Amino acid sequence: MNSTARTVEFSRDATNVFFHILTRCNLRCRHCYINPAQHGAADLPLATIETWLGIFAGRGPQANVIFLGGEPTLHPDLAGAIRAARRLGYASVTVDTNGYLFHDILNQVTPQDVDFFSFSLDGPAPAVNDPIRGKGSFAHCTAGLRAARRRGFRTSLIYTVSSDNIEALKDMPPLLAELGVERFFIQVIGIRGKSAQRADHQEQLQVSRVDWLAAVAPVAQAVADLGITVTWPKVYLDLAEPFECAGRVAENFFIFPNGRVYRCPLCEDFPLHAFAIEDQRLVATGKINEADLFNLEIPEGCVMNRLIQPANIEYDADGKPLHRIACCLLKEEIAPG
Ligand code: SF4
Ligand code: SF4
Repeated sequence: MNSTARTVEFSRDATNVFFHILTRCNLRCRHCYINPAQHGAADLPLATIETWLGIFAGRGPQANVIFLGGEPTLHPDLAGAIRAARRLGYASVTVDTNGYLFHDILNQVTPQDVDFFSFSLDGPAPAVNDPIRGKGSFAHCTAGLRAARRRGFRTSLIYTVSSDNIEALKDMPPLLAELGVERFFIQVIGIRGKSAQRADHQEQLQVSRVDWLAAVAPVAQAVADLGITVTWPKVYLDLAEPFECAGRVAENFFIFPNGRVYRCPLCEDFPLHAFAIEDQRLVATGKINEADLFNLEIPEGCVMNRLIQPANIEYDADGKPLHRIACCLLKEEIAPG
């Protein structure tokens, strides 16, 4: 082992655009955070995608775009959207996919157009993944990833940890090596979208601090030892560690087909978006919006975590938190040395 975990500071110089170009999907994952009542149900026309990409490309010298859905490859104009992002000078283009790769997308774009295809898989085998993501989804996802590799694309894999699959995380390293992914993203379940609707199961879905800390670091090291870069959310801060809200200091934009633009993913179930795109312009929304919440200081750290998923906070007998919750966008990373 010749590399250690480091906290990835929020970038003040880059604009990151998380662009949901549609909310339709062929799957019905248990933890899906998409909420059409809040995010819209339209497929954005290509001309609108280009205009909206242009708005954010102009905000700074380095803009990165991640195309998402729903399932973005269901959009018949995804290839056109990718090429538009390149024309507009985006520094990197990523496509997050469930692996079904509709519309022959691998043959519509080249590895020069797309920096990464990022595949979502929630288990090392169908027995773990398919109950969460849908029957047959393990086979489709791994076949799609292999096809992308054969075509010369760089690939990454996202594993969302919940109580449903935390046990199986330790079995991922050999599969990642065999698939040939370059990056592994461990995510943690968020209580939003469908998870928030599972009212009686929310606390069971969230993993405890002890389980999270015990499970993630050893797997991350094992994966890094295979030469794969691993990233995961920090989640817990000791009381002495500094807390920072990305909504205040970083340029992240989560865009939905109905024109809502959020700064914080934890706000996405609510009409709290700081911006909206109206008449093809980005406009600030009125009070109260998420930006007002970012400025609140509470002993638990992240305000939105305290509001929507407080089951991950522990308190002492006097009601003082034993730790703080980091911004959900604060990551730890091990890059192979
Ligand atoms: S693949 Fe993504 S968008 Fe589709 S249901 Fe699963 S989590 Fe939701
Ligand atoms: S997750 Fe919490 S700390 Fe991060 S942007 Fe949202 S409100 Fe701020």
